Amino acid sequence: MTSNFDPTSIERLKELLSTPHTITLLGHVSPDGDAVGSTQALRMVLESMEHQVTVIYPTHFPASFSCIHGTDRAVIGKVERERALESLKSAEIIFCLDFNEPKRVDFLADQLTDSTATKILIDHHLHPADFVDISFSYPEVSSTSLLLYHLLGALGMNDRIHRDCAEAIYTGMMTDTGGFSYNSEDPSIYTTISDLLEKGIRKDRLTAEITRSYTVDKIRLNAHAMLNNLKILPEYHTAITTLTHREKRIFNYQVGDTEGLVNVPLEAKDIVFSIFIYEVEKFCKISFRSKGDFPTNKFAREFFNGGGHLNASGAEVYAPISEVYDLVLQALKVFHPTEEDIPHDW
Ligand code: 5GP
Ligand code: MN
Repeated sequence: MTSNFDPTSIERLKELLSTPHTITLLGHVSPDGDAVGSTQALRMVLESMEHQVTVIYPTHFPASFSCIHGTDRAVIGKVERERALESLKSAEIIFCLDFNEPKRVDFLADQLTDSTATKILIDHHLHPADFVDISFSYPEVSSTSLLLYHLLGALGMNDRIHRDCAEAIYTGMMTDTGGFSYNSEDPSIYTTISDLLEKGIRKDRLTAEITRSYTVDKIRLNAHAMLNNLKILPEYHTAITTLTHREKRIFNYQVGDTEGLVNVPLEAKDIVFSIFIYEVEKFCKISFRSKGDFPTNKFAREFFNGGGHLNASGAEVYAPISEVYDLVLQALKVFHPTEEDIPHDW
């Protein structure tokens, strides 16, 4: 993997980081484990080189990722808007991690685009937009955190990865592969885990902190959604789940409480495509997941101007949830999984 990096880009980045700079690291809106893990890991490495680093997320990350070292110092754009904008404005270097287009940082997009900083992309999403100076875009890598690990190696900075940094990397690798259950056949995942263990990561403790630190309300909310709101369209091998503001309020919803919910219907043998529609502020967010070869990103892009990976995509729609539900049904009439999409040969 490390040998795949463009030598010119590696040299440019090495040169750029050879003297201390003011650097802003940016993750995407509703940051997941990979966005938080990769930004925090890179922050730790850059701080060890005397750079002045600020990490920004447009909105809150789930509380379960607070176990990653230094997350308490992150700037949440929605809470500290001026500070986030100022940090982007005054940065000499901006790293964009785990997203591929400015619109993924929500209301920070214009400031990111307008900034005169040197912009560097480290990401694994397909079709990156052209908005950076140096790009490390590798869609075949299962997580940005793993990509960062390889990149740090290519930059000769592996020795700067200490335990806390290694734990941040491991978190991103684990969460973006569903605990190494999909996109997880790249042997370098396992040699990297071995290296991270050598660096002292507390793997079992980390897994427990991330996957067993929920509230009882979260468990009840997820149970409610599956029991009362799950619709199965057997002819399309598709499941649709919805969640309204009202339901979120009843179950005292906290950021991250529906993380993973969209994957649950895929546990049913003949369900190939799972769609989760939920209300967020003034719009609806849709999460798409599939198993096998059904392209959720094509569905998200063609009907909802969204995008993502083959098996995991998303979109935002400015319409009431009942309308979004109808739009999803109409889209499914045009494009849906068939009998042939059920993976039989696994
Ligand atoms: P999630 O369902 O976890 O919010 O998102 C899954 C994946 O879909 C993300 O990693 C991202 O690649 C993509 N994604 C989610 N929301 C959007 C969106 O609004 N637009 C685009 N282009 N991609 C999205
Ligand atoms: Mn990712």
